[in-house]
Amino acid sequence: MTKLAIVCPCYNEEAVMEISARKLQSLFDRMIADGLISPDSFVLFVNDGSRDATWQIITRLHQTDNRFKGLNLAKNVGHQNAIMAGMMTARDRSDAVVTVDVDLQDDIEAIPRMVKAFHEGYDVVYGVKVERTADPVLKRLSAQAFYRLQERMGVKAIYNHADFRLMSRRVLDELARYREKNLYLRGIIPQIGFPSTTVEDVIAPRPAGESKYSLTKMLSLALDGITSFSVKPLYAILYLGVIFILISLGIGGYVIYSLFAHTAVHGWASLMLSVWLVGGFILVALGGVGLYVGKIYQEVKDRPLYHIEKFLD
Ligand code: UDP
Ligand code: MG
Repeated sequence: MTKLAIVCPCYNEEAVMEISARKLQSLFDRMIADGLISPDSFVLFVNDGSRDATWQIITRLHQTDNRFKGLNLAKNVGHQNAIMAGMMTARDRSDAVVTVDVDLQDDIEAIPRMVKAFHEGYDVVYGVKVERTADPVLKRLSAQAFYRLQERMGVKAIYNHADFRLMSRRVLDELARYREKNLYLRGIIPQIGFPSTTVEDVIAPRPAGESKYSLTKMLSLALDGITSFSVKPLYAILYLGVIFILISLGIGGYVIYSLFAHTAVHGWASLMLSVWLVGGFILVALGGVGLYVGKIYQEVKDRPLYHIEKFLD
């Protein structure tokens, strides 16, 4: 039977801890009764350097029910790193790990469906938001625009999926090979490429407390979502340079025409041409440097070259 670990990152979440713990407890009881997961399955709360009573609550929960486990990070390291810490701790103590925000805005009723998909042989099960009317309009729209931009930048990510997903132990073992610091899990997990499927996730409003994702945290995550996966912005400089040089050819024609037609003021022609031509050359040179920076960036990441899904020995 599957030993399941549910990893929940918690940052100043004293307002929701008890409510969520109760919901998770009843979910566990049901899943154990249905024979989906083993009785030694557990919830791992990762306290991401909270300054409120979150850790005290986790400690108390652990004392009352040892299916609640706690990991106390020494300081706030952010959502992605907190999830990583939890997954790496849960990995050799379980068969599969589900990550879900502790406010349980994601539909935890999707978790039994995730486990069923895992039993069917899927290594990754993504929770995909089909309904997010509970999210503020601005958040929903900006998130969806971002997913599209990401797609155009060539980043492979699942549309409308955040970090609510199930991963098998062997996926976590592959994930452990990624040593990069600017973590963007939504990009890395699909890249590992193991058999995956999706389940529907309906977003609920936050039961208590406020969003811990400040605007700066959200922007920095969005930036990571593109810059940790795509060198396209660097290469775009090169294309821009070429476009500038082409424009300067057109302007060259116009300048020569103006000289012959005597409509040009003295000095205008040389200025006009050099602005576009020199600008174009500078951009091309920058783009050329960008090509190398892009390679250095990929080398420095030192990502695994391949993931072995099966070996018939
Ligand atoms: N979180 C965290 N570290 C941080 C910020 C947030 O561990 O520095 C956790 C937070 O406790 C929650 C999850 O990340 O479990 C998502 O945060 P939140 O629900 O506030 O974001 P939103 O749902 O508003 O996007
Ligand atoms: Mg939330």
